[in-house]
Amino acid sequence: MTPSAPPVLLTALRAFADQPHVLVAVDFDGTLAPFTDQPMDARALPGALEVLIDLSALPQTTVAVVSGRDLASLRILTGHPDDLVLVGSHGAEPSWDSTAEGHRLTSAERSALDALDNDVEELRSQHPLARIEEKPSARVLHTRGLAEALAADINAAGMALADRHEHFTVTAGKDVLEFAVSDVGKGPALLDLAHEVNAGAILFAGDDTTDELAFECLSANDMTVKVGLGETEARHRVADESAVVEMLQELLTLRHQSVGR
Ligand SMILES: [Mg+2]
Repeated sequence: MTPSAPPVLLTALRAFADQPHVLVAVDFDGTLAPFTDQPMDARALPGALEVLIDLSALPQTTVAVVSGRDLASLRILTGHPDDLVLVGSHGAEPSWDSTAEGHRLTSAERSALDALDNDVEELRSQHPLARIEEKPSARVLHTRGLAEALAADINAAGMALADRHEHFTVTAGKDVLEFAVSDVGKGPALLDLAHEVNAGAILFAGDDTTDELAFECLSANDMTVKVGLGETEARHRVADESAVVEMLQELLTLRHQSVGR
């Protein structure tokens, strides 16, 4: 890790690495992979997936990538690593729980999604440059790369939809507005996974609004890391995606020492 890393972060990493069973979880976009205009062009930084896989090979160390992306996209972008747990759609699609995979919709959720789709089509006809991503249980309005005024118009149209479709959980992120039929959230998904693998401490790093909700769910025994600028509930902060990789490499060294391998 660079000498400029705050001593408080190193101290926390050391304490975390000494816990008996740990869950190391990271967001993907803006945390492991720099943002790109086209979502499927995003790539994890060199070394990022490698250090996660190395960590997952250590005893009593579970590693997860937890993203707003759907599970299928997350599998492609991480290269299907067997050793990593993947959690897609903000927690609604955990790879470790096959019963939740694909998030089967109830008929009420299906009807709500159909009604939303009608309005989304209308929005798309008024704003042809708006990009709409369809997930199994959500629709996402993307405005990354558009001129600021146009993005603001599209976002306002999206917020008007949010007012009309109150059954959806609407989350505004960086140039995205997501309408989700289920309100699982990354926080509850992390707690579920930690319970499943019997992890006593969780490290979670993320950069976006949805990650803040997860930070709030975690306890004082856990380690929360905000990536980049902006207000946060996290106890720690690193500057960017490169600093996340450095932090994970430091954790790998410390965890090696702690578990004696
Ligand atoms: Mg992110």
